[in-house]
Amino acid sequence: ATHEETLGFQTEVKQLLHLMIHSLYSNREIFLRELISNAADACDKLRYQALDNDAIYEGDSELRIEIEHDAEAGTVTVRDNGIGMSRDEVIENLGTIARSGTAEFLKQLSGEQQKDARLIGQFGVGFYSGFIVADDITVRTRKAGADPGEGVEWHSRGEGEFTVADLEREVHGTEIVLHLKEDAREFADDFRLQSLVRKYSDHIEVPVRMPKVEKARDEEGNEIEGSETTTWETVNEATALWVRPKSELTDEEYKAFYKHVAHDFSDPLTWSHNKVEGKLEYISLLYVPGRAPFDLYERDGARGVKLYVQRVFIMDDAEQFLPLYLRFIKGVLDTRDLSLNVSRELLQQDPQVEKIKSALTKRALDMLKKLAKDGEAYQTFWNTFGSVLKEGPAEDHANREKIAGLLRFSTTHTDSATQDQSLADYVSRMKDGQEKIYYIVADGFNAAKSSPHLEIFRKKGIEVLLLHDRIDEWLMSHLTEFEGKSFVDVAKGDLDLGEIEDEDEKKAQEETAKAKQDLVKRVKEALGDEVQEVKVTHRLTDSPACVVLPEHEMGYQMRRIMEAAGQ
Ligand code: ADP
Ligand code: MG
Repeated sequence: ATHEETLGFQTEVKQLLHLMIHSLYSNREIFLRELISNAADACDKLRYQALDNDAIYEGDSELRIEIEHDAEAGTVTVRDNGIGMSRDEVIENLGTIARSGTAEFLKQLSGEQQKDARLIGQFGVGFYSGFIVADDITVRTRKAGADPGEGVEWHSRGEGEFTVADLEREVHGTEIVLHLKEDAREFADDFRLQSLVRKYSDHIEVPVRMPKVEKARDEEGNEIEGSETTTWETVNEATALWVRPKSELTDEEYKAFYKHVAHDFSDPLTWSHNKVEGKLEYISLLYVPGRAPFDLYERDGARGVKLYVQRVFIMDDAEQFLPLYLRFIKGVLDTRDLSLNVSRELLQQDPQVEKIKSALTKRALDMLKKLAKDGEAYQTFWNTFGSVLKEGPAEDHANREKIAGLLRFSTTHTDSATQDQSLADYVSRMKDGQEKIYYIVADGFNAAKSSPHLEIFRKKGIEVLLLHDRIDEWLMSHLTEFEGKSFVDVAKGDLDLGEIEDEDEKKAQEETAKAKQDLVKRVKEALGDEVQEVKVTHRLTDSPACVVLPEHEMGYQMRRIMEAAGQ
């Protein structure tokens, strides 16, 4: 081969390869799903580019994926006639991991098989998963529309390096040949491959074909040597899953499709599949993942839905259709309301986008509301994505009340760090005469729980929400009321317990305040400019003193966030 060069894998790839091979052994059949998923993506991309340049098909517009095997040689080949790759793309895609946060992610891996398997699944294994079953992989590819002389051959044994060389390749698209390890030879088998395709890739819209070799027979019924003819049989269902009626789809099919769309490894918690006709016309299939992607908090982390226009794939990660606080939702949107040549830039200006976004937001919130009926599943959701959902009230005023209903808190009712109480739960337990929802914000659960500000509330048996997430103060500054009841920070301003306090108590407090005037004066003199004011309080029942912020002052958490941001 000409112009051959040997290159080292990026350090992160080497680490991932090593860990993946060791920890995914018992899941190794997923390599096929990953390769078919990539092949299907490549076909989608070619179809999209061909929308305004038909010539790029090179006369071959029947997109397909082919899987072949050779039991004797111990190889499995996955081939597509999709977009293909240039030499630079091969080096970039099959030699590095270009996602931010990768290095930090890899640091979390421990060498403990089960834990790592979970983490790696969350990261998305992709192309490199081929090395779980193969000790040698060859990729032959050519970009659609390029000259036959611009083909590329990539080869690696998955150890530390790979080679790339020029290749003369008549057809565009990509062919991946896996040379199976001794103990993975079982995959070079017709039946095994077929059942894996059905299990994992039934929903792929592109046909996945496998060859069927037939020999002619003579009059006595014996096979005639040299008479082999190969016919290709489509093994998968090959229609877009979301287009099919709900009644026809099984949970297993929905789950398998989720894994393809979300590049996830484990099952989703729930999904919502809707076909809408009328002013807006779209089909949406939204999923709530069972766990967080590694880049949930990365600024440029992948988010949004896979966008199709009239069945034609347009783009991955179309983030314009869901608000940021629902960035964990995965899925597909297929619409007739956008034009086929829509781009990211055009999406930002299209008024239809805003309409679909508010419809999908509503769907997603309804889906969560439904999920909340299943306490255990909802708790998994909340533990995983709760702090993202807490961004909601600030971002989405229109849906504030709905979002508030989905929030879960720690409270003095359970005194547990688990956030599992809803505002509706709180309201149902409110004391006679109680008009407000009380809360406290602190740096950690224990700090919140043992705050002296709670003494009077505990004494009177009034429940207080114990907020201890970084985002909580931000949340509370945007959450003003729930079911007509306003929120009160028990650490701020004058404490007014309203109707819950009786007149005698109030009188007693006023008397104490009068009696302690001298003490207050002396304390104030001693503290000088350190404080704005010193007051006698009835907040405390056991502690002698506490610090209180004025009502409209920024809280401790917010101050710290602003300081960290250099303000
Ligand atoms: P992901 O699919 O999540 O992007 P992968 O590791 O599976 O990650 O693939 C890495 C990249 O390699 C893909 O994004 C794509 O650009 C490229 N690639 C992989 N397989 C193919 C293929 N069959 N045809 C074209 N490009 C491919
Ligand atoms: Mg992939």
